[in-house]
Amino acid sequence: MKTLFERSVAGRCCTVLPTCDVEYKAPAVQREKKLHLPELSETDISRHYTELAKQTFGVNDGFYPLGSCTMKYNPKINEVTAALPGFAEIHPLQDHAEGCLKVLKTAEEYLCEITGMDAMTFQPAAGAHGELTGLMLIKRYHELNGHPERRKIIVPDSAHGTNPASSAMCGFTVVNIPSAEDGCVDLEKLKEACGEDTAGLMLTNPNTLGIFDRNIREITRIVHEAGGLCYYDGANLNAVMGIVRPGDMGFDCIHLNLHKSFSTPHGGGGPGSGPVGCKSFLEPYLPGEKIVSEEDGTLKAEPRDERSIGAVRSFRGNFLVVVKALTYLITLGKEGVPQVAENAVLNANYLKHLLEGTYETVNKGVCMHEFVLTLEGMKKETGVSAMDIAKALQDHGIHPPTMYFPLNVHEALMIEPTETESRETLDAAAEAFLSVYAQAKADPEQMHHTPLHSPISRPDEVTAARHPVLRQTFDD
Ligand SMILES: *Cc1c(COP(=O)(O)O)cnc(C)c1O
Repeated sequence: MKTLFERSVAGRCCTVLPTCDVEYKAPAVQREKKLHLPELSETDISRHYTELAKQTFGVNDGFYPLGSCTMKYNPKINEVTAALPGFAEIHPLQDHAEGCLKVLKTAEEYLCEITGMDAMTFQPAAGAHGELTGLMLIKRYHELNGHPERRKIIVPDSAHGTNPASSAMCGFTVVNIPSAEDGCVDLEKLKEACGEDTAGLMLTNPNTLGIFDRNIREITRIVHEAGGLCYYDGANLNAVMGIVRPGDMGFDCIHLNLHKSFSTPHGGGGPGSGPVGCKSFLEPYLPGEKIVSEEDGTLKAEPRDERSIGAVRSFRGNFLVVVKALTYLITLGKEGVPQVAENAVLNANYLKHLLEGTYETVNKGVCMHEFVLTLEGMKKETGVSAMDIAKALQDHGIHPPTMYFPLNVHEALMIEPTETESRETLDAAAEAFLSVYAQAKADPEQMHHTPLHSPISRPDEVTAARHPVLRQTFDD
């Protein structure tokens, strides 16, 4: 498809106002050459963006089982409340914005209740930003308690890539521990890794294989006994929200991805929110301000003292994402939150069951909100890779699952259906997966050329990521 510049026709424009009759005085700093702007009519522009929109794939187009991402349907009512002028048009420096403070305070209370934490900050703008913030709390804690030598963070090999990255960014040394046979934490390896230099452990439970680690209390006990703190990567809370709480598993600090589990659309680089919750002993180190209730019940934002790690972002983070999360929680109510988790787990197990027997699953028993397939056998036998399968699914109107993650599984495809898909959608998805499998067996060669019906088939993904062409160049 053509870019706006390629569609441009000299002299065409969409101005409807009469030409200005006031004499124009060029400022001294005026550019020497005319700015290159596309010249188009309003119709051209409107059609251009509509055409672009038609070439994308989102949750509103079809099944989007991207694992470790929670691509769920987000109720439109969340957008309605977030667009209320009192929320959308307020300036962050405006006084007397008690309603907004109330949103933050209430969301903090609800999310602390769900996670078993005592306090929360909404400053971090995404999950990885939350990880960095949480690790900064842990670092501050050790420094202010006379243990600056605790500089190692233990991370299992199944962890999301952001965990070791955030640890390194925070100045910690990463200690990788291999998983046990069952995909869970190897307790012996954990004990060996723990020592006087341990700052803490970062863990996701259920882990990225979709398995709930039943030894979790023992795991956090081992780390605490060694003097470390436990960080819970709560990006994907879908499987456990309202059922078990990280705080009760022994974690001291967590982040959530409001743009995954708590109903803000994500995937297009839009605003996210990675609030960080902690137990009360870490609260003084939180960034930003504390929202307190005066005696007469009015709310006030108070700065924190010098123990705080300081601001990690301007103002109060991506506030409107918090409005959406709160709307979502109020809509669901106390009964609805665990139902989300139950249905997310049910849907994952249902789909896994339909694929098992044809595809090789990594999770043998019951999974949580997601499961992992390995195409290792298929690759050896036919040369068809996990990537080929993922590409072919696009011809069936399905967004590819997460590919080649977790790293400890070869030729991995990670599938997370979420609670918002119906049985009919899951049945149709299973049918598509099975037909792609049959296609791979019958005609492996053709699989390398899929998708056959999408606007772009096989872009050079490395070049597209490393050297994106984002500028139009001109001859003059
Ligand atoms: C998505 C995800 C993250 C990172 O979140 P971002 O908002 O993309 O920075 C961290 N951990 C896990 C387990 C995730 O799934």
